[in-house]
Amino acid sequence: MNLPSSAEIVIVGGGVMGVSAAYHLARRGVRDVVLLEREEFFGTESTAKCAGGVRFHFGTEINVRLSMLSLPAFERFEEETGYSAQLRRCGYLFVLTRGKDEAAFREKLALWDRLGVRTDWLSGDEVRVRLPLMPYPDAIAGVWGRDDGLADPGAVVQGYVSAASRMGARCLTGAEVTGIRVGGGRVEAVETKAGTIATRKVVNAAGAWAGPVGRLAGVDIPIVPVKRQILVTAAVPEIPADFPFVADFAGNIYFHREGPGLLLGWSNPDQAPGFDQSLDEESEFIHLEASAGRMPLLERAGIARRWGGLYEITPDHHPIIGPVEGLAGFYVLAGFSGHGFMHGPAAGLLLAEEILDGRSTTLDLAPLRLERFARGGAFDESFVL
Ligand SMILES: Cc1cc2nc3c(=O)[nH]c(=O)nc-3n(C[C@H](O)[C@H](O)[C@H](O)COP(=O)(O)OP(=O)(O)OC[C@H]3O[C@@H](n4cnc5c(N)ncnc54)[C@H](O)[C@@H]3O)c2cc1C
Repeated sequence: MNLPSSAEIVIVGGGVMGVSAAYHLARRGVRDVVLLEREEFFGTESTAKCAGGVRFHFGTEINVRLSMLSLPAFERFEEETGYSAQLRRCGYLFVLTRGKDEAAFREKLALWDRLGVRTDWLSGDEVRVRLPLMPYPDAIAGVWGRDDGLADPGAVVQGYVSAASRMGARCLTGAEVTGIRVGGGRVEAVETKAGTIATRKVVNAAGAWAGPVGRLAGVDIPIVPVKRQILVTAAVPEIPADFPFVADFAGNIYFHREGPGLLLGWSNPDQAPGFDQSLDEESEFIHLEASAGRMPLLERAGIARRWGGLYEITPDHHPIIGPVEGLAGFYVLAGFSGHGFMHGPAAGLLLAEEILDGRSTTLDLAPLRLERFARGGAFDESFVL
């Protein structure tokens, strides 16, 4: 590997966050950016394992605003990078079966309206009409986001890496960061098995591993890895081409079309934190039964693929973006808590502003600083499955 001996900025981690940061820094004219990914390819961890959902409907203004920056960026992605993000606006339908969820979503209608996010509030009967393949006798309401949908994580990673490289960024794989040297209250160098890169700026974009990477620099980052699972069925011809992303909020399960089949994802509320990504067949069985209860067609469907991946969860389910007090030159871009793919474009843009302008101007990131946890400034996002 051709490791440079110095760099203006080193990014650790080549998932959607790292590659977006590399692209946005290079686009702002920083030529001396080095992106280090320990795997053989970029984007093979949480980014590759995600469901690809992109949506506006979050419970906090800052998350909605991150979506408002990101979804248009997916739209113009091909123009910017030469690769299509494969954005498909199939819509998101949150199905609500509990009174407390209905109340929580209803309370956000004013926020979405103020921000210009188009929302259709559906009655239980309207949900049943929209989902003829899914008997939902207990649906009491639905939130339909017609502008939401899906994009392709692999295409987005490839687009950002290619465009960043064309602009001069050095994007390296098989490059595990094993140490971060600090001195005099600032970052001095990044160490790998292949050598050391002297640098005064490091971005920790290591996703679920942002905690261990932070510890290399002596920084405590409260990001916890938690396994989530996905299963993709073989072809199910009955599923229409315009089938939406259906999120069964109380059931912690979601469904969307994936090629000729259906993708099912779920979160096990009892999942213990940890880096284990192996398939948990017991949890799979429970959630498949629940999914088949909501879509009886699944009882006849074959399985094409299944996998586990990691959410990178912070205590308040919001990301950590920005510099770290007490260690000059160290930045965090991680902890997106299960909705990071869709916020990748905004996150890279804003981080580039933080580094190059001293603060982000497109959107005020002050609420997302690491220090919020110590200062009691955490605020919860609850619209995440
Ligand atoms: C099952 C599942 C479904 C999901 N569904 C969605 C969804 O529908 N929509 C959505 O927006 N989000 C979704 N997410 C969340 C989304 O995938 C993540 O929030 C996002 O991909 C995080 O990107 P990242 O770049 O921070 O992390 P990653 O993609 O994990 O990238 C971090 C990278 O850092 C590398 N790394 C770690 N340590 C080192 C080191 N020491 N040196 C060098 N490199 C290192 C890793 O190898 C990895 O490639 C889902 C996640 C899962 C697991």
